[in-house]
Amino acid sequence: MTEDNATILYIEDNPQNMRLVRKFLRMGGYKMLEAETGGEGLASAKSHLPTVILLDINLPDIDGVDVVKELKKAPETAEIPVIALTANAMHGDRERFIEAGCDDYLSKPVSKGDLLEKVGSFIKQAQS
Ligand code: MN
Repeated sequence: MTEDNATILYIEDNPQNMRLVRKFLRMGGYKMLEAETGGEGLASAKSHLPTVILLDINLPDIDGVDVVKELKKAPETAEIPVIALTANAMHGDRERFIEAGCDDYLSKPVSKGDLLEKVGSFIKQAQS
């Protein structure tokens, strides 16, 4: 796998956040898949097997924590790195996300530098 054919799935119900991340990923040269609900995100992850998943925690249907649990339980998606993206993280949230199976965590609003650095490092790990 090269960085050129890496595909990033972003599960996010907020259009502004989606737009911002879309812009950053485009600048990084990544292909992007978008899902607006947890259910849609799970279906997309299973059918497209993206390289990395970016996951909002507050989703309209399924809590992001349950989305990651589901992804990590299914053998076909268990190895895909999941980065939680969330605003107003409370004390203990990071631990809760990691415990649920998230591989990493970014606070919103994400910066282009932080996002591309984290995504890039997971892609490199997947390649090695
Ligand atoms: Mn949300």
